Amino acid sequence: MPSNNGSGKPYIDCKHVVKAYSVGDHEIVALRGIDFTMQRGEMVAIVGPSGAGKSSLLNLLGGLDTPTAGQLRAGDVNLLDLKGRARAEYRLRQVGFVWQQVDRNLLAHRSALRNVTLPMMMAGLGRRARSQRARELLDAVGMSEHAHKRPPQLSGGQQQRVAVAVALANHPDLLLADEPTGALDRQSAEQIMELIADLRARYGLTILMATHDMELAAYADRTLTLRDGALGQDLTAAEESPPGLDEEGRIRLPPAVRAHLDDAARIAVEVRPEGVLLRPEQASEDDTDGLLQDMLPRHNGAGKRWWPFRRGGSAREEAHQ
Ligand code: ADP
Repeated sequence: MPSNNGSGKPYIDCKHVVKAYSVGDHEIVALRGIDFTMQRGEMVAIVGPSGAGKSSLLNLLGGLDTPTAGQLRAGDVNLLDLKGRARAEYRLRQVGFVWQQVDRNLLAHRSALRNVTLPMMMAGLGRRARSQRARELLDAVGMSEHAHKRPPQLSGGQQQRVAVAVALANHPDLLLADEPTGALDRQSAEQIMELIADLRARYGLTILMATHDMELAAYADRTLTLRDGALGQDLTAAEESPPGLDEEGRIRLPPAVRAHLDDAARIAVEVRPEGVLLRPEQASEDDTDGLLQDMLPRHNGAGKRWWPFRRGGSAREEAHQ
């Protein structure tokens, strides 16, 4: 597929993108003029509460829907005037999707193998090539042993592994993942993120992932925050001014972390053996869900810094909506 390699031209170019839905006689504006770019091979997390517009943005980039206004390009494809067959081809070959709802990703009556071969069949690939590629992909996602099982015979995490293989069937450049681990337990969620990070390197994918989980967003190179259809600060800015203490002892927090404390009139600071805990003062003693535990950045497997949250951070985020 198209190529921006080395040219410096972004792979995704999103300018002033607006998405409005007509509902009866009024409009819901889901995206209010979004601007961002992504380089080929980049992985970006888009974080925001439910209703922020994350799925709307992914749908536009996946060619499932058309922007109301603005400019949107992925590779050499202009997503505003993509019609009919060209749109279908874009969806089939250039983009792979992984959805949160496990049963949206797979057909329950087909085996894992036959789920993976389906998009290749639609793309006109011969039987032998389909089967070979499907086996290679199932191997890459650690599901070779389960190739002949149907989705209901697999765990949620295993089904999402197969879903990733399906998404990559036709060698897409772009992987769009909408809360891909939202229906999974923590351990499976982390395993799927490890897998995505691994496949990204292996296949040179460009990845945009929606999530409301900051811990999972840390697998990305950068995090964009979306709220009420508008992008907030790009957290790469936080890289330039890393969290830490300034000379007067004030703590600099990255914006996404600060968002967790924004509603608090006062913040209690506790020194604990494992680090420093910041908590909105109104929270009860044992309610540490979602609170920042330790101001020192840690590193994940990919060498990225992250700011750890207690389990249940997403529940707190819901509470902020
Ligand atoms: P998120 O993925 O962040 O939860 P969405 O993109 O699903 O956000 O939704 C953004 C806003 O657009 C919400 O107010 C939602 O109700 C609205 N919306 C999304 N899809 C549609 C649709 N097909 N028709 C009407 N309103 C929609």
